[in-house]
Amino acid sequence: MAALEAGGTKCVCAVGTGPDDLRAVGRIPTTTPDETLARCVDFFRAAEAGHGRGQAIAAWGVATFGPAGVRRGAPDFGRLTTTPKAGWGGADMLGPLRAFRDVPAGFDTDVNGAALAEARWGAGAGKSSVLYLTIGTGIGGGLCLDGRPLHGLNHPEMGHIWIPREDPPLPGAGTPRPFAGTCPYHGDCLEGLASGPAIAARWGQPAETLPEDHPAWAIHLGHLARALCTFIYTLSPEIILIGGGVGGRAHLFPPLRQRVAELVNGYAPLPEIAPPGLGDRAGVLGALALGMPDRSSE
Ligand code: ZN
Repeated sequence: MAALEAGGTKCVCAVGTGPDDLRAVGRIPTTTPDETLARCVDFFRAAEAGHGRGQAIAAWGVATFGPAGVRRGAPDFGRLTTTPKAGWGGADMLGPLRAFRDVPAGFDTDVNGAALAEARWGAGAGKSSVLYLTIGTGIGGGLCLDGRPLHGLNHPEMGHIWIPREDPPLPGAGTPRPFAGTCPYHGDCLEGLASGPAIAARWGQPAETLPEDHPAWAIHLGHLARALCTFIYTLSPEIILIGGGVGGRAHLFPPLRQRVAELVNGYAPLPEIAPPGLGDRAGVLGALALGMPDRSSE
């Protein structure tokens, strides 16, 4: 089984069968589609000969940044679609892999893959509905429902919902100017308000360097809690897992659970809200899970 987690800055490649059998993990910088995917194919060719113990790759699992065409049989299946990442719009992700080994392939968003992997092996094991949210350079959400990633016309875009804004005046700061948001498509959608770049643009320093008592976090928690309420009311997940460079910060979880409980106000059952059980391997294990038999019916 071959897994490719395609990210905006790097791609993670591996072969294996699960969390206890993940071999030949390699990282390749994301440059142009042609160069990046050629290097991934080189990696898998070498892995087949080495860590694959001479076995040919039996299936591809690809979990990618997006937006991407995830509907089997659609003309854009296996391709990125409208991604704002320069040079990658329309990129054929599966084509170069299947030119190397024409075997069954699973293809989905990184967050749908991570939700699937968490449901299979991680913090969502035994649960029928697992929502995975990543908050980092962007915000994305995926849902695994009864063992399958949720699709509709295409995949959900949970990072681009609009939420009521929380802009409390800061002590001594007078009347704050509304922050316009950083999403190139929507301005002040959730990603435009609460992603790492949005926090950095608003507060003038990277989110990773903001101290835990910085007022930015109260506003961030308010935005995030309102988004989670929307997901709770529309999808009713049993567990919500939050990862990513900003979302995965441990100090955010206790106040986030409290804020969500206050906002829901007893109206709906509250899901668990927790960090991913698979940690930073959720992405590559997501790719692996996408390529496994029940996702490879082609
Ligand atoms: Zn947006």
